[in-house]
Amino acid sequence: MFDAHNHYQMVINGELVATEKTLPVFNPATKETIAQVPDCPKECLDTAVYSAKTAFKSWSKTSFDQRKAVVSKLADALEENAEDFMALLTREQGKPRSGAEWEVFGSVAWLRAIAEQTLEDEVIDENNERSVVTRYTPLGVVGAIVPWNFPILLSVWKIAPALMAGCTVVVKPSPYTPLCNLKFAEMAKDIVPAGVLNCVSGGNEQGQWLTAHKDVAKIAFTGSTATGRKVMSACSDTVKRVTLELGGNDPAIVLPDVNPKEVAPKLFWAAFQNNAQFCNATKRLYIHDAVYDQVRDALVDYINNEVIVGDGANADTTLGPIQNSMQFEKVQMYFQDCIDQGQKFAVGGDIDDNAKGWFVPVTLVDNPAEDSRIVTEEPFGPILPLLRWSNEEDVVARANDTIYGLGASIWGNDEDATQRIAEQIEAGTVWINEVHQYSPAQAFGGHKQSGLGCENSLHGLMEYTNWQTITRNKQA
Ligand code: NAD
Repeated sequence: MFDAHNHYQMVINGELVATEKTLPVFNPATKETIAQVPDCPKECLDTAVYSAKTAFKSWSKTSFDQRKAVVSKLADALEENAEDFMALLTREQGKPRSGAEWEVFGSVAWLRAIAEQTLEDEVIDENNERSVVTRYTPLGVVGAIVPWNFPILLSVWKIAPALMAGCTVVVKPSPYTPLCNLKFAEMAKDIVPAGVLNCVSGGNEQGQWLTAHKDVAKIAFTGSTATGRKVMSACSDTVKRVTLELGGNDPAIVLPDVNPKEVAPKLFWAAFQNNAQFCNATKRLYIHDAVYDQVRDALVDYINNEVIVGDGANADTTLGPIQNSMQFEKVQMYFQDCIDQGQKFAVGGDIDDNAKGWFVPVTLVDNPAEDSRIVTEEPFGPILPLLRWSNEEDVVARANDTIYGLGASIWGNDEDATQRIAEQIEAGTVWINEVHQYSPAQAFGGHKQSGLGCENSLHGLMEYTNWQTITRNKQA
């Protein structure tokens, strides 16, 4: 499967499909082209949807045990090929080995855990007069639209529940990171019946075609809020079901009773994991006035002594490059805006335009204005504003003053205070003294414009189904 010639083809109806027109894929650490992938024409995408629709007839009739066997085999196959997937993920996405391990083995664990999930019929009423039973019936063809920050994991978060619910899938990878998604589908074609799992690569157009397609019943989308709005609007024509996992501007609130040196590494990783290209990265760090200077200085020390930005393929790299040129330019814009606004950098701030890859230095912005772009927007790169606070009510209001509501974290020893603050935060997940703890059993989703619906848990599984209630009059 992982041949020396780096062949990447789409998977449609269980067959590998090449196209005349192709698109380049780059290694962000070197800006070199590492592969060409098919640019799926409309008629090929239609064939993929048609084959998924055809396969739905039999796949939707399979039992949970049959689906579990297939999804578990996907986990085994991914585990067997983990080394190849991790190396490929680093090459196309840029993340270092530790991040690739987290993503690939996390995906294996997710496939195994979701394979255990079932949705039993619910008996609402059962008496001499009437029986009322609600069933969960699969929706049909799911279009799974995937971003470039965690391409394998975030596709698995869609593929696994869709298959378990009895749906069939057409995966549309990000144009920046299609390689692992194509290889996953190639691996899956020997495990999943033909047509049940298809994968079509290309640009953004293929996403638009899927959202507009009359035979697609649901779009499971992860990406930016700006694109999410377009997806939701396009889906309205055919009243498609949508799950939207969108952008975030997660606050972290640090209480005055923390130990600055102990908390600093945890705060660093909360913000900079995956080079801050993370929906749930801490994007605003509110530090209590009493410990602001100490926490800031401990963060600067940690960054200067422990963090190596470089090619993810090097063993000593802790943070890789920005994933693509579009994102690099966006992050550059935030650096320039901070300079134009006269903000102070506690560390970093200077991008080397002559670097071999799309590298950006880890940067802390020292207490910028609350209404500056670096505070109100989602830079999706390693530049973090540190903000002072002294009044609890005020910091909660500032943390909630955003269109986003994906996640948040609270750091401190006072259990009452951390709990009280957590309960007032408008976000789908609030972590206390930890961050980025996820589970297949835990519903994950955003409040406000961070999303609609959720992934993971039985709530996530239900989003791939319709309710159907059958009532029987027993006295007729
Ligand atoms: P993006 O919105 O640019 O692209 C996401 C996907 O949508 C890609 O596959 C893209 O090709 C496709 N697409 C683009 N235009 C489309 C259209 N009009 N119709 C249908 N599909 C279209 O996002 P990105 O830059 O790949 O990812 C970064 C964003 O994703 C960030 O905002 C981040 O916060 C968010 N994100 C959210 C979560 C979450 O779970 N909430 C997880 C990861 C990333």
